[in-house]
Amino acid sequence: MDGADLLDFVFQVVLPFTVVVLGVLIFWVLPIYLGVRWAREKGYSPLWMLFGINPMGAWIAAAILQVCPPRDRCVECQRFIRKDFEVCPYCRCDQLEFAPEETTGGD
Ligand SMILES: [Zn+2]
Repeated sequence: MDGADLLDFVFQVVLPFTVVVLGVLIFWVLPIYLGVRWAREKGYSPLWMLFGINPMGAWIAAAILQVCPPRDRCVECQRFIRKDFEVCPYCRCDQLEFAPEETTGGD
């Protein structure tokens, strides 16, 4: 094996392989990473990203998580709870007593 063979090897095997790996990282791992991050931020289960078993599913699940509004938090303990709960299941805090007005905007 001389220098030319090595160059052939680099351009015919290593380079395409690197491009494929980078492509997979960007088009498959990226939506899963973003989806899990958005799920955590908004109070949804990161297990939704199990749709990421398929790259297309990963993009769809990530897009849905991005579009979904964040779940409501308890006014007292800040845990995610359902919107129709009047009492927080975690700290038993009355949700109607505090902050009846919606603070729109945020970020
Ligand atoms: Zn609470």
